[in-house]
Amino acid sequence: MTIMDPVCEREIDDVEYPEQAEYNDRIYYFCSLDHYQEFLKHPEKYAKEEYGEPVKQQSR
Ligand SMILES: [Zn+2]
Repeated sequence: MTIMDPVCEREIDDVEYPEQAEYNDRIYYFCSLDHYQEFLKHPEKYAKEEYGEPVKQQSR
């Protein structure tokens, strides 16, 4: 599965994802702590749905 870092828009497949953040029911992964912190500063700028993994809803 290919995962995109929404900040630098690079594929980060086959590596460990050091940071992740949840925003608007999606989980975003980042190649570095720098990009994670950048995302947290401007989540509305970087949070494109196609880059996020949907949060699995817990069954009720
Ligand atoms: Zn990055």
